[in-house]
Amino acid sequence: MKEIVVISGKGGTGKTSLTAAFAGLAGKCVLADCDVDAADLHLLLQPQVRERYEFSGGGRAEIKAEKCSKCGLCRQICRFDAVRYSADKKSFPTVDPLACEGCGFCAIVCPADAIEIRPAANGEWYVSDTRLGSMVHACLRPGEGNSGKLVALVRSRARKIAAEDGSAYILIDGSPGLGCPVIASVAGSDMAVIVTEPTISGEHDLLRISALTKHFRVPTVVCINRSDINPAIADRIAAVSEAQGLEVVGRIRYDKIVTEAQMAAKTVNEYTDGLVAEEIMTAWRRIITLNKGRE
Ligand code: SF4
Ligand code: SF4
Repeated sequence: MKEIVVISGKGGTGKTSLTAAFAGLAGKCVLADCDVDAADLHLLLQPQVRERYEFSGGGRAEIKAEKCSKCGLCRQICRFDAVRYSADKKSFPTVDPLACEGCGFCAIVCPADAIEIRPAANGEWYVSDTRLGSMVHACLRPGEGNSGKLVALVRSRARKIAAEDGSAYILIDGSPGLGCPVIASVAGSDMAVIVTEPTISGEHDLLRISALTKHFRVPTVVCINRSDINPAIADRIAAVSEAQGLEVVGRIRYDKIVTEAQMAAKTVNEYTDGLVAEEIMTAWRRIITLNKGRE
């Protein structure tokens, strides 16, 4: 079983469309949507949720009024200014759940043992059926952190399902950018496919994200999406990739039929057998060949 993670330096490069198209071409596979801050693979694949779980990545302080002596210490020591306390101390202090980081310091210093750190409900994750196979996906609540932990959970479950049902591939839709969820999506995978586009920022982002995959020693290839919107920069990205030891496995043209496929909730290759679909297929075949070569 091979874990292929599709990533990009920023959003909007077509990463999710390509992940779904690759999954459709992969045959038996498991999908993992690790873009937990802005998951959208479900929009294309319309999963039927079969398991639903709460995700708690940390804690939240809760003050028990019946024990509190209103000493105000928790308010003084909280570095996140999460304890709300009226100046006259007439009411009991309360904790702002959006500001509390769950560090637990207030619970340690409280002389009345009035503070408890309870698991926070940061989001949900799901195991679903789709027409392309099982999918593990998640939804982090707005403003919640610990997305790396949630990504690790999603990947772990996807691996378990793939092992049980004998899937040859796990296709991971990684987060855009370079943060914690991206690291959690990339580390330990068998191959990273960087989706970029021929723009100055695309070139810059490619260098940053390839430094990350190199750091984690993940074999990496590049796919230049909408390559014909600026062939000169596409050529330059290909040259930069080559200089970094990264093979360009595909150059995929701009075609408005890709948007039409999205609107119809289909993968590109389900929707059309035109040139753009052929280019995606060529890229996927090369990815398979490279992975088989390393078995
Ligand atoms: S430190 Fe404890 S006793 Fe003091 S105000 Fe806070 S919750 Fe109440
Ligand atoms: S757990 Fe930490 S962040 Fe939350 S209220 Fe207590 S001291 Fe502040």
